[in-house]
Formats: sequence, C-alpha cells, structure tokens
Amino acid sequence: MSDFRAELGDIPVDDHPRIVQQRSRDHYWYSPVLKAKLDHVTAEIVVSPRSNDEVKTVLAAAYKHGVAITPRGAGTGNYGQAMPLAGGAMLNLMNMDKVLDIKSDRVRAQAGAVMEQIDNQTKAAVGGELRFHPSTYRMASIGGFIAGGSGGVGSVRWGGLRNLGSILGLKVITCEAEPRELDLEGEDILKVAHAYGTNGIIVEAEMPLTASYDWVDMVVGFDDFMEAARFGREVAAQDSLLVKEVSVYAAPIPEAYFNRHKPYLKDGQSVVLLMVAPVALAAMSLFISHHKGDLRYRSDTASAEELKRLPPVYELAWNHTTLRALKVDPTITYLQTRYPSLEHLEKMTSMLGDELPMHIEVTRQDGNVTLSGLPLLRYTTEARLDEIVALHEANGCDVFNPHRYTLEEGGMKRTDQKQLDFKRQADPTGRLNPGKMIAWENPDFDFKAGKAWLFNGLNPVGPA
Ligand code: FAD
Repeated sequence: MSDFRAELGDIPVDDHPRIVQQRSRDHYWYSPVLKAKLDHVTAEIVVSPRSNDEVKTVLAAAYKHGVAITPRGAGTGNYGQAMPLAGGAMLNLMNMDKVLDIKSDRVRAQAGAVMEQIDNQTKAAVGGELRFHPSTYRMASIGGFIAGGSGGVGSVRWGGLRNLGSILGLKVITCEAEPRELDLEGEDILKVAHAYGTNGIIVEAEMPLTASYDWVDMVVGFDDFMEAARFGREVAAQDSLLVKEVSVYAAPIPEAYFNRHKPYLKDGQSVVLLMVAPVALAAMSLFISHHKGDLRYRSDTASAEELKRLPPVYELAWNHTTLRALKVDPTITYLQTRYPSLEHLEKMTSMLGDELPMHIEVTRQDGNVTLSGLPLLRYTTEARLDEIVALHEANGCDVFNPHRYTLEEGGMKRTDQKQLDFKRQADPTGRLNPGKMIAWENPDFDFKAGKAWLFNGLNPVGPA
C-alpha cells in the first residue's frame, strides 16, 4: 500500500480509520443477509481524484502494485455494490462533479455530478431535465446511477437504464500499465452500465434530456389495494396524462411509515402517489374521480409552510419506502419483483398478506406498463426469505434478488462472453471491484444460469 500511495503525488488521500470506514459503506444494511455478510468489510484508504489524469495515475499505480480499487459515488447503492470486498482503496469520484456541456436534448457531465445539480443547470440553460432518476436524486451521482442503479422517477414514461438510448455515451478509464480513455457509444455502453464498476471507471456520461415541468405531487387514497393497483396501472397507460411517478402502497404502509404526510392520510386506505405535469392536472382530477379515488393531497394547493415541511413524494417512493419503514421498524427489509398481471399481484398479495406489505412502482418496460414490485418484507429468517422468493417464482413472478452482492446472483444484469472479454481488456488483472462478478472468478460459470435479467447484457432479446 505504501508503494501505491507514493505514486499518487498530491491526489487527495484519506486514511483516517473513521472516514475510511464510512466511505467503505453503502446501503448494504438494507438487507439483513448482506449486513451479516459484509459488516466487517473495509478498505485501507480513500483516494479522491479531481481529473481524468488523476484517475489514470491512481489506476496505473493500482495495476502496478496489485491494489484493489472500488469506485464510489455517493454510496447509496443498496446491494453492497460499493463494498470493498478485497480491501485496498476506495476511489471516490465525487470531486469530479462538473456539468461539461448542455444541448437542447442532452447533457454531458462528470461521473461525480449529483443528479439534482445536473437538472438545476439543464433547467436553467435549456428547460430540460434528465428523463428519470433514482429517488436518491438529491445525493446520488450520475456515474453511480449508471454503474449501480436501474431506473426510478420517470421510468413510468421513459423505461430504465437498460434500454438502448437511455445513455448516449460514456467515457471510461481502464486499469492497465498505461490506462486508456475509451469513449463508448451504442452497444458498448451496455458492457459498463450496471456492471458495478467491475470493467472500467466511468468519468463522463452523456444523457438524453426531456422537457422539464414543475411536477405536482398528489396522494390518492383507495379503500381497497387492488383498486389502487388497477388505478395506478391505468393512469400509466393513459397517453395524454403526463406523469413522472406512479406508485402504489398497500395499507398499512402509508399510515405506518409516511410520517410527515400522516395528516393527509385516512386510516386503512391504500394509496397511489403521483407526480403530474401542470398541463395534465385538470384531466387527472377527472380521471381520479372516475376511478372513485380520494384525492388526499396535492402540492399545487399546499401552503408554503406545508411545502417546507413535506418531502417530495418521490422521497416516499422507490427505495425511500424501505428506508422510511426501516426507520420505524428495523426488522423490515424488501424484495424486488415483477408481477406479469394484476391477477399475479392479487394472488401473491393474498398469499403473503401482511408478511409482505405491497409496494408497486408502475414502470414502462419495452413499451408495456409493468408492475414492478418493491414490497416490504417482515424479515424473520434467511430460509423464510428464500421461501418467499421461491413462492414468487413458482407463481410466475420474477424476483431480482436484492440480498445478493454479485452481479449475477442479483439477477439484474446478465454477464456474458462479450462483457467478460471487455473486462479482460479494460481490467486484465481484475483490480476493479473484485468479488462482484462471478464469471470473472469462475471460468466455468454458466452464462445461461438464472432466470430473469432486467439488464439483458448484450443479448438483444429475451431471457436465456
Ligand atoms: P454508489 O452507491 O456509490 O455506487 C454504485 C455502484 O457503482 C457501485 O458498484 C460502485 O462501485 C459503482 N460506481 C460508482 N461510481 C462509479 C464510476 N464513476 N465508475 C464506475 N463505477 C462506479 N436505485 C435506482 O436505480 N432507483 C431508485 O429509485 C433508487 N432509490 C433508492 C433509494 C434509497 C433510499 C437508496 C438508499 C437507494 C436507492 N437506489 C435506487 C440505489 C442507489 O441510490 C442508486 O442506484 C444511485 O444512483 C447510486 O448512486 P451513487 O452515487 O450513490 O453510487
């Protein structure tokens, strides 16, 4: 490690044990399974480069001295993606946070730029915003989202990172004797998206923009969960109701965990959270009343004091739901599922009841309105968790297991021969985020193993 450090010149390095331990953590503790497995993991130092050249210096030194490198943005990933399994150095990218170029339809930014900051600049410059972002919008980096995330607020209209066209270009630095800058476009982007930084360090990303709106938050109550789910799916299927977020929560999630919105909620109701463009408000009000929804809150008529007190609804959604539940009840965890139809959803909900309080993010996947589940799970044992996963699969529902830290076992990303070949070129000695790609460590790995893959790797269609 001292030889490695000696090559870093004046690149900022932190070796204070408390700082290093803090930076060696992401949100792996969302999962009791990952918590037990990864609690002890820590790097030795944190290196914080400020430019592409400094990233190259760090990677050349890591290559030469055999030091493991784990890239890190804001550390909000929740599958332990940024946990340094092999120790070594955390590569903190948050000092590289500039927006480099804004055009009417796209933005180019350094990897450490925070998504809310990117939007602030694109809104001011061209009236545009990122098509979708995770609910950690106010903290997370664009590089971390691309390397570790999948979709989020806006995915109801724009799909996810897995879709061609969601990322326009990446600049990646390799880990070799003389690190190279590669400009990836088209199919090559898919090698690096959602690869946990195992095959190159993203230093720049170019993303498409869409028109920005002053989105209006709405909370709509329903006495019956399936009525709420039906409404959520139908809202998302409406061609002219411009929405950025549609999510559905079974009682008792809202009243138990949405603390600051409590005054607006009615006991026993399930709710749908919406973000609606101002132009669609009148039509949306009509649509809600046609579906006998109970409009409990809308941010465009809230007072300044209320707006100050309440988080935006997207911070109740996606994995913020789990976070809010965990704050109240530390035994709670969650699953990531996909329900092919309302009937599948109804069956699983009635089978598992309050052991799996249901949370659905309505998304668009390959043109279809999709019921993506992030149900809460009242955790008892790992064996029971595995049983619930198996129950879903036996009933035709996909599970992307968030209790696994490897790319392959998480089930989101299929690694394949082309991707492995790319890692051989970009990181020939396996320094980058070691332990996260099974196929790298096990040459006999069966690429066809597993069932559902949200990111379909480089295979153009369908699961294996
Ligand atoms: P990190 O957690 O720091 O890193 C994520 C992964 O990318 C790690 O494997 C890391 O090694 C790698 N990495 C980081 N930067 C780079 C780089 N420059 N080059 C190469 N590899 C890199 N995710 C969603 O997709 N949608 C959501 O709506 C969502 N909601 C969330 C809500 C909460 C409350 C929490 C805790 C998490 C949520 N997540 C969500 C997960 C996570 O917040 C996002 O994926 C986020 O975008 C990660 O960004 P980050 O900067 O924190 O990345």
